[in-house]
Amino acid sequence: MYDQRTDEYQDIRDAVRALCAEFPDEYHRKIDHERAYPEEFVEALTRAGWMAALIPEEYGGSGLGLTEASVIMEEINRSGGNSGACHGQMYVINTLIKHGSEEQKRKYLPRIATGDLRLQSMAVTEPTTGSDTTKIKTNAVRKGENWVINGQKVWISRVQHSDLIIVLARTTPVDQVKKPSDGMSIFIVDAKEAQAKGQLVVKPIPNMVNHETNELFFDNLEVPAENLIGTEGAGFKHLLSGLNAERVLIAAECIGDGYWFTDRVVKYTKERVVFGRPIGANQGVQFPIAEAFIEVEAANLMRWQACRLYDADQPCGAEANMAKYLAAKSSWEAANACIQFHGGFGFANEYDVERKFRETRLYQVAPISTNMILGYIGQHVLGLPKSY
Ligand SMILES: Cc1cc2nc3c(=O)[nH]c(=O)nc-3n(C[C@H](O)[C@H](O)[C@H](O)COP(=O)(O)OP(=O)(O)OC[C@H]3O[C@@H](n4cnc5c(N)ncnc54)[C@H](O)[C@@H]3O)c2cc1C
Repeated sequence: MYDQRTDEYQDIRDAVRALCAEFPDEYHRKIDHERAYPEEFVEALTRAGWMAALIPEEYGGSGLGLTEASVIMEEINRSGGNSGACHGQMYVINTLIKHGSEEQKRKYLPRIATGDLRLQSMAVTEPTTGSDTTKIKTNAVRKGENWVINGQKVWISRVQHSDLIIVLARTTPVDQVKKPSDGMSIFIVDAKEAQAKGQLVVKPIPNMVNHETNELFFDNLEVPAENLIGTEGAGFKHLLSGLNAERVLIAAECIGDGYWFTDRVVKYTKERVVFGRPIGANQGVQFPIAEAFIEVEAANLMRWQACRLYDADQPCGAEANMAKYLAAKSSWEAANACIQFHGGFGFANEYDVERKFRETRLYQVAPISTNMILGYIGQHVLGLPKSY
């Protein structure tokens, strides 16, 4: 049977599964109902070292690759949990690991590895520019030993549970650069200190999923010059490697969701008897489940391909985007089949289907919407004219 397959990451899977088993459906359901943060769960993942998987050993982490990190994320979602509460650290940290100075890495990474510090947030999206990132209006101006940041961001997640935020700001006006993607820089911001000084205001956005996300307002936020990550003006390029990691990890989460939905719906449709036989004996029920499962499996292959390229330091923009596209689409198909064939019970909180259904729906829109992926493939892979 497929569900008894093992792979070379079985040790990681077994360990993460054992940890997740301590946080059963009831735990995640209650957290969702209360719109709370799964603090104990994230703490347990941190204590067990999983949140430091990508941090090199010399900085106190386990020095694993994106492939292993993706397995951790997949298992969390496959267990019925939601990696959305903690996945930020996995991919945001990559920007610091790949582009941070030695001094920055020594300052932050060991404390992030032990859990003393959290780097869970990355502030890119803005209310008036949305997916058109190169048009961002948040700007940073150098004044003496500081950068001074002004502007506004939207949908910035986990700020209440992060000590640090990576912020993208324009440092050279767009009309003074060669390419629109030039002239932006990334900064590491101490979220608590900035709020204490009144230079950063955080306003939560109530939303459909239990996803802690916010509007941010920067009012003459002073950031020490040494908090610039990488090269001034190359921030967008630096972010891209982190964004590819983000896409692959989210793909893995969707794959975890896809297996969760197919497991649950298979079990339910074998047991539920209507018109004298299990509903799963009907082709009208069985085929959409089989179709979703096939699509999850195919998405999984593209996820391994993207992971392999990323870990080998090869270009992987196309594969990371395609993995995210296929995985988000297939988990959504699986979610639809799962809720449909649970009938009315799909809507009952106690089955967790409606919660996971909401959670997985997000990934058609964030962190990059499906249309933007199609535009990327059209232009950068197929050589079609730029469409946006
Ligand atoms: C719960 C949640 C958490 C988030 N967390 C973060 C975070 O931590 N940090 C962060 O920086 N951002 C975050 N985001 C923002 C997210 O990345 C954006 O919502 C997403 O990139 C889409 O941008 P937008 O909402 O501005 O949509 P828009 O850019 O306004 O687009 C709206 C729709 O129109 C489509 N569209 C736009 N232009 C075109 C075109 N030319 N062709 C075809 N279709 C088009 C888009 O695909 C999309 O479906 C989060 C969002 C949510 C909902």
